[in-house]
Amino acid sequence: MEHTIHFDIHIEPARQGAYFTIPFKVPGDFEFETLTLKYTYDRRPLEQRPLENGLYSALPEKNIIDLGLIGPDGTQVGASGSDRNEITVSEECATPGYRPCRIVPGEWQVLVGAYKVEPEGTRVFYEVTLEGKSRRLLKGDLHCHTLASDGVHTLEELAFKAKRNGLDFLAVTDHNQLVSKAAMPRLPGVTLIPGVEWTHFKGHANFIGIDQPYDELFATNTPAEARSRFESAHTRGALISINHPFEPVAPFQFDLQTLPFDCIEIWNGPMRESNLKAVGYWQQLLAAGKKIPACGGSDYHRDTPFIFLGGPTMGVYADSAGASDIVAAVRAGHSFITFAPNGPTLEMTAGDAILGDSVAWAKVKELQINVQGLLAGDVLRVVTGKNSGVLFTAPSDGDIELTYAMDEPGFARVELLRAFLPGLPMLPALISNPIYFDAE
Ligand SMILES: [Zn+2]
Ligand SMILES: [Zn+2]
Repeated sequence: MEHTIHFDIHIEPARQGAYFTIPFKVPGDFEFETLTLKYTYDRRPLEQRPLENGLYSALPEKNIIDLGLIGPDGTQVGASGSDRNEITVSEECATPGYRPCRIVPGEWQVLVGAYKVEPEGTRVFYEVTLEGKSRRLLKGDLHCHTLASDGVHTLEELAFKAKRNGLDFLAVTDHNQLVSKAAMPRLPGVTLIPGVEWTHFKGHANFIGIDQPYDELFATNTPAEARSRFESAHTRGALISINHPFEPVAPFQFDLQTLPFDCIEIWNGPMRESNLKAVGYWQQLLAAGKKIPACGGSDYHRDTPFIFLGGPTMGVYADSAGASDIVAAVRAGHSFITFAPNGPTLEMTAGDAILGDSVAWAKVKELQINVQGLLAGDVLRVVTGKNSGVLFTAPSDGDIELTYAMDEPGFARVELLRAFLPGLPMLPALISNPIYFDAE
């Protein structure tokens, strides 16, 4: 979906030396990811003046028109003098001189600076192109540490590492420390998401996607104080994940019934017993009728055997590469967890529903499952509230498309098991969020 707006203006010589604005509208009936603004005008005469040494000198400019962009809230998005004929802005990226921002609907304005205008005036042609959001699979890691807490790398180093490992996004979650989005470096192709691992002697939780989840100190001494941090973060729109709930050195001991949260980190770093316990706990909640997404993250601090950025990787179906859309997709459970950035991937639908969505069982009973990147011997099982059955064993490497019929309301999720090491039990290579089939 692309939407283009054209407009032009004739600038009289009397306006030379003045600034003024031209409004244009970003429509609200569709969500847009990027805005590109181009403009042209007759800047230089065509003739060039020959010089003695065989070179040519451009004649002085006839017109010089400066460019700027103002958002619907009236603030400056950026200004580029007359140096650029084209600028682009999105939530994650912007042409230098402009700030990244969401392309929200409303009245935006081009800032026109009539620095020089020839005696007969000049016409300036503007073109605004709005590129619509579209759902895509992005890979990322929701849990890592820099040397601002107990990691060993800077944020910049982690961003480069994420890119090298094939990740599209990275939530940075230092213990009780947060770097605001504005203060984060920008690396094209990697969306950095602000976050903090709220760390207490009785449990850890990630607050992701906003700059300031609470105004008070992180430190709390009573369950009521702890709850107030969660409630503040939740009210302000943070994505809250309950981290490594069964990790022996830092289990989650607060009462989950009393705290608002969005997802449970069932896969923290390498797959191991504490993660399998978390999967079991999550399964109990799902079987009890709760709709709670699972999430995963490497908890990366430094390179050690079996620990790397993107181990595990979240595969997230997000509407754009913007941090807010990635966080929204994780919150909606539009995701699966795979053991590495190059691990298997999954597309699972039921009618129009994707991972994390709900459908009415009376209307849709069939699940479409599409797994890519299988290895021979991989076992795919479908887990519901009642049972877990093997649907497919891969005879060879490759991809597979399968269907699964829901014979009653509930939920269905997928686990792909793999023999990572000969002689050891099979372990999950991928765990999906469920699709929920509501009884009505
Ligand atoms: Zn932790
Ligand atoms: Zn951590």
